[in-house]
Amino acid sequence: MSKVKKKIKVIKIDLDKCNGCRACEVICSSFHAKPKYSSNNPARSRIRLIREPLRDVYLPVYAGEYTKAECMGRDKYVIDGKEYNECDFCRASCPSRDVFKEPDSGLPLKCDMCEDDPPQEKPLCVQWCLNDALTYEEREEEVEEEVKQEDVEIGLESMINQYGLQKVMDTIARISISKKE
Ligand code: SF4
Ligand code: SF4
Repeated sequence: MSKVKKKIKVIKIDLDKCNGCRACEVICSSFHAKPKYSSNNPARSRIRLIREPLRDVYLPVYAGEYTKAECMGRDKYVIDGKEYNECDFCRASCPSRDVFKEPDSGLPLKCDMCEDDPPQEKPLCVQWCLNDALTYEEREEEVEEEVKQEDVEIGLESMINQYGLQKVMDTIARISISKKE
């Protein structure tokens, strides 16, 4: 399989620099409002701040993938003597809690790195974090080229047209047996 270059986008989070100002939540919800910048409601943000000033806990967490089921176990992290709650570091929009869900519809929210046309120079939350707690990096990685399902189907269809369905099925069966041996 051939290799292709893929752009990896990373937001680095420095917890020691975050002071809990919540500017990241405000700008994210405003950027994703429809129309853009027409309102702001941090409950609609794709970054959420876990903020406990009495324990000096300020933890920005990005919304990740939606999950249908909650996980079977929980983790507790202790970092620099501070204990974090179960689920604090989790990015999932999950049935066991309310975060990362659109408040009106309940639909899951996911960080899209502020995809825009023309593209933003940096994600908005990074631009608005005046304490440099969030920094943006890009790098390129070589990855295996993904084979698209539709390309496989087009290839198979043209072989079926040329050799007939039975012949193609017999060949696939023969190849899969020889691969197993
Ligand atoms: S804008 Fe920066 S300093 Fe403010 S809460 Fe967000 S990450 Fe923390
Ligand atoms: S990168 Fe963009 S979409 Fe993701 S949390 Fe930051 S502002 Fe929101």
